[in-house]
Amino acid sequence: MKRTTTCGALKKADAGKTVTLNGWVHHNRNHGGISFISLRDRYGTTQVVVDSDSPAELAALAAELKNEYCVAVEGLVRARPDSMVNPAMVTGEIEVVAKKLVVLTKCEVLPFQIEAESDAKEELRLKYRYLDLRSEGMQKRIKLRSDVTFAVREHMMANGFYEIETPTFIKSTPEGARDYLVPSRLYPGKFYALPQSPQLYKQILMVSGFDKYFQIARCYRDEDARGDRQPEFTQIDIEMSFVNRDDILSMIESLMGHVFQKTMNVALPAKFRRIAYDDALELYGSDKPDLRFAMEMRDFGPYVEKSTFQAFKDALANGADEQAEKAKIGVTVAGGGVKALVVPGKADYSRKQIEELEAAAKIYKAKGMAWMKVTAGPDGKGSPTLEGGASKFFKPSEDGSGAPATLAPEIISGLGAKVGDLILLVADSKRRIANVALGAVRTKLGKDLGFCDPSRFPEGSAQRFEFAWIVDFPMFEYNEEEQKWDTAHHMFTWPQEKYQATMETDPGSVKGDLYDLVLNGFELASGSIRIHDPDLQNRVFRLVGFDPAEAEKRFGFLTTAFKYGAPPHGGIAPGLDRLVMLMAGETSIKEVIAFPKNSFAVSRMDEAPSEVDQKQLDELHLQIVRKAESE
Ligand code: ASP
Repeated sequence: MKRTTTCGALKKADAGKTVTLNGWVHHNRNHGGISFISLRDRYGTTQVVVDSDSPAELAALAAELKNEYCVAVEGLVRARPDSMVNPAMVTGEIEVVAKKLVVLTKCEVLPFQIEAESDAKEELRLKYRYLDLRSEGMQKRIKLRSDVTFAVREHMMANGFYEIETPTFIKSTPEGARDYLVPSRLYPGKFYALPQSPQLYKQILMVSGFDKYFQIARCYRDEDARGDRQPEFTQIDIEMSFVNRDDILSMIESLMGHVFQKTMNVALPAKFRRIAYDDALELYGSDKPDLRFAMEMRDFGPYVEKSTFQAFKDALANGADEQAEKAKIGVTVAGGGVKALVVPGKADYSRKQIEELEAAAKIYKAKGMAWMKVTAGPDGKGSPTLEGGASKFFKPSEDGSGAPATLAPEIISGLGAKVGDLILLVADSKRRIANVALGAVRTKLGKDLGFCDPSRFPEGSAQRFEFAWIVDFPMFEYNEEEQKWDTAHHMFTWPQEKYQATMETDPGSVKGDLYDLVLNGFELASGSIRIHDPDLQNRVFRLVGFDPAEAEKRFGFLTTAFKYGAPPHGGIAPGLDRLVMLMAGETSIKEVIAFPKNSFAVSRMDEAPSEVDQKQLDELHLQIVRKAESE
């Protein structure tokens, strides 16, 4: 009873053939003594019919079949009468009249039904992942992932890249997270680290002359459970020699173009737009803006001076003071900021709706959010004016004092606002907070107003996928807690040439040769041109607080390799999970990983991590110290 075809293959032209199918019972219905069994495998479903004139034994067995029994059927392909043709089904023109039926294995009572998309709770889906993976949605997504991986390999190979594996038992490669450690049995007290990325190995491959490298690489990062993180995930890791930033960017543009064309028949634009990091923050309040909608933020600072809004004036004045203070210790900061967002046509938002938006801003440290509405003047006919909320600070008061009468019209035309629009304002003595907090409001509005709904654009259209490059990131970030500079990406990034001379005296203004690829509000890839000069690398180590001995101990193998003719090089690493997730229109990477952990880094199916035998611990020279409950 080995299958001769699959459940997704038979057409009208096959009528009259005798076939054997293997698969799972998707549904089994009985109508007037006739069993209609919908048989499923990964290729599709086929309707199997056990006619009323079938031998009694066959009919009895058919009646017993429960959902998800694994069965084999031999039967005759029969064209369905025209009225019964199901155009929604690939095999909808035919049915298979069963002659022989064998139950290969039975199925227990199911924890949830196998639907197109399971609506069971996530924990249950993960515990019975093998069943969850049978759903049509998971089957499609796992196939898409396989297709994407293949298309990546195909494109990279066609463009002269070598696929090279790097070790997964390594000396730590820092990417800003904690390492997963593997104790060594042979060397008591010593540990391997699992790679947070193949970063240092791929750079060393450049020193070895493999000038175009890629790898579908598993990365491991021990981070706190937050958002949609997985302790292990997959990157399309890439490195190239003798290239500049533009070479890497166009290589990725062509890779994405190929992958989307090949797997989804979507034609992406040949070039993605480029936005400087500073501009991204000013316009969208984020370094990973969702560009499926515009709604750019505006600088409201210039209007504040003429207004009577003391809180806003204070934010700007305090910001200027802080800026002067920080400058004394060589730290460049942006000062204060007041930012505005015009929400088209939403002057009718209720107080409650506005409060919900304000709550989003407060998560990102905004002290509050002001608002006003653009209306058609007091009698509804005059020239547009500002009403409600904070508007009183931007208009003359009744006695003629207050803001000049010209200010409200100036604001309305300056912001490009129209009657019926809502204006939202966030001020802070730290410009970054004003930007990021209002940016969070923009993101929320994008979702609330349906701008991020994939169905807004036709299926297969490139507008569903808004790619952009964010470039010119700051190289260093000031760590207020530890009162020291950290690198914004990793420590191997090339500081742009023009800042190198003053790197130590003014780290805050140094831009790195860094680039991120963003897609629909997600960071899809990070990369950079790397340092290939051991002296410059040591200067960066020193700046972020590694003393030379410590740097030598941790990364000496890299700087030593650089002494033997290191080529200029750079690279990038798009996240495969995120890429497939966004292509599939999903919002969690768990939907595109066969066996993901839950949000607390636990695998519900096999209950990893788990305790191990004392013998294993002894061999590894490990001892578990349990803290008292009270601690
Ligand atoms: N190794 C980097 C990361 O994982 C990517 C890169 O710079 O190529 O973020």
